[in-house]
Amino acid sequence: MRPQCPSCQSIYVRRTHRVGTLERMISLLYVYPFRCQLCSARFSFFQWGVRYAQQEDLRQYERIGVQFPILFSSSQTVGKGVVTDVSVADCAFETSLPLKQGDTLKLELYAKSGRPPIVVEKAVIRSIRQGIVGAQFITISETDKARLHRLVGDLVGLPIVPVPQSSAPVR
Ligand SMILES: [Zn+2]
Repeated sequence: MRPQCPSCQSIYVRRTHRVGTLERMISLLYVYPFRCQLCSARFSFFQWGVRYAQQEDLRQYERIGVQFPILFSSSQTVGKGVVTDVSVADCAFETSLPLKQGDTLKLELYAKSGRPPIVVEKAVIRSIRQGIVGAQFITISETDKARLHRLVGDLVGLPIVPVPQSSAPVR
């Protein structure tokens, strides 16, 4: 049986770190924590007989390889680049502009041509490696969040999932 998100019914989920003694104990009974890759819900799921190796990569969100333009701006600078990976929580992009770790940016993701960009009001640069900037999304409107979730769902080829009642309408 595949783990499924109890909040949005997505099957695009990823196993995440066990936190605390209780989660370590119940993992012995094949109950594991997961993170929904679309709505960010964290939940436990019972997988009879499934054992995981300890040293697997357990980042919270899987990034999906993409290629689309991005504009970014801060109080000091405005620039553009190319997004190479995206998830609902962060993205990576290439740019020739000098940015530094800890910088705060506003991002505009031009994921679909002819459509308005997905706007991230506030993102923080968490890493810079060989010209690739890793930015974590901090502030994003409900509308843009819903569009971002739909984009990620489209990219991984998921069937359309019902939008939870609490979400803002999708443009
Ligand atoms: Zn979900």
